[in-house]
Amino acid sequence: MSNCIFCKIIAGEIPAEKLYEDDNVLAFRDIQAQAPLHALIIPKQHIATINDLQPNNAELIGQMFLAAKQIAKAEGYAESGYRTVMNCGEAAGQTVFHLHLHVLAGRDLSWPPG
Ligand code: AMP
Repeated sequence: MSNCIFCKIIAGEIPAEKLYEDDNVLAFRDIQAQAPLHALIIPKQHIATINDLQPNNAELIGQMFLAAKQIAKAEGYAESGYRTVMNCGEAAGQTVFHLHLHVLAGRDLSWPPG
């Protein structure tokens, strides 16, 4: 998608601090980090929201969580704990309409979230 900021990061048109990459998934640090670790894991394929997922995307979602696990371990938070969040739609706080999994760690994360 030509007007999608995350597609531009995938294309290398916008810089990002990459944490993980494979054929299907890219991860980078959030530009407005809400915790010492705040990574975003995105599919290289443009999918706007969870509502747009299809059955043939099931493996891709699994790959995103495996990337989350790998990043949490590499950053030293596998044992202490981390949070994964995927907002869907404006009421949930989604601001970028390219599917992304937040990975947050390194501070006390309250529950329920705001
Ligand atoms: P959400 O509110 O769930 O849609 O999350 C979108 C996230 O993307 C926010 O946490 C933003 O800070 C982050 N973000 C937006 N633009 C960029 C960018 N160019 N590089 C890294 N993170 C970004």
